[in-house]
Amino acid sequence: MSDYSILDADSFAQVQVQTIGLSSGPSPLRELFIYTSLICNKQCSHCFVSSSPTNRILDEMTARDLRPILDQATGQGLADIYFTGGEPFLSRDMDSMLEAAMEMAPVTVYTNATEPLEKSLRKGLPDINVAHVNKHGRPIHLRISIDHYEAEIHDIYYARGKGAFEKTLQVASLAYSQGFTISVNTQEDLHNRANTRQAERFLRNRFAEMGVDLYDVKVLPDIPTGNQQNRTISSETPVSPAEFAASGARRENLMCGAGRTVVKLQGNVQIFPCTLLVPHDAKTLHEFQKYMMGSSLSQSLGVAATLDHPSCRAYCVKGKMTCAN
Ligand code: SF4
Repeated sequence: MSDYSILDADSFAQVQVQTIGLSSGPSPLRELFIYTSLICNKQCSHCFVSSSPTNRILDEMTARDLRPILDQATGQGLADIYFTGGEPFLSRDMDSMLEAAMEMAPVTVYTNATEPLEKSLRKGLPDINVAHVNKHGRPIHLRISIDHYEAEIHDIYYARGKGAFEKTLQVASLAYSQGFTISVNTQEDLHNRANTRQAERFLRNRFAEMGVDLYDVKVLPDIPTGNQQNRTISSETPVSPAEFAASGARRENLMCGAGRTVVKLQGNVQIFPCTLLVPHDAKTLHEFQKYMMGSSLSQSLGVAATLDHPSCRAYCVKGKMTCAN
């Protein structure tokens, strides 16, 4: 028996998680995050969900899987839908999922802006973007990952491969010329060469040289999960209600307070509180069982999220970060 077959999806549908920071699920449901899979053409050293060309712990999402979830989201106040992975543009059903999602809300796609996006930009994606503009008055938003503003650190230290930095700039520039809006997610500079503002400025200037006006730059803190956990020693403890109140973090700015995350796991759609607490290997399949909220989006809205993972403090409460725009 594979280690991946230990979960009985039904037994987790009824899980009631103990409330630590939040008193109920998101209402309205503003954000919906969809994992297309964890398959990626890259294998970056810091990836917090350990995406790689061979990571098949999540199944590939399809438009058919998504349909019931989108139906349940109708009338719930959805403001944004996000696709993430893995590299979403490797997904065989990506065009159909984009078309279904944009009927509900404006769409953002997380992408490494390399060959898979380039291929989509040379096929049907520009037409889908035109339909998105007609529907929402703004283009599909591409949030691209550039791990460091220096090409060598991006390519070598973060293991993206030689030439990856320039490739991403080139593909992002192509997307911008086709009318997509572009944001960048980057990592905090562990080499201490630049503070957050400087890192942002370097990236904005580099894109401006190519005529690309970035919509937003996010500098992400170290997240103690996935590949990154291998080089991050976390001593975090659960966030207490008093600490949450004192932090100034706001419930509506937490992914678990504003939305839900959808994955396909062992053949079934499963709902999780956020993008960070989804299984990405055999170990976290056990570790993250308690965060599963079942396969019904509607039911998951009645369940409050706990704030008891190290990422809750590192990324959300202390870091005041969200994967939303
Ligand atoms: S990491 Fe924790 S606090 Fe942040 S969104 Fe997820 S459940 Fe909420």
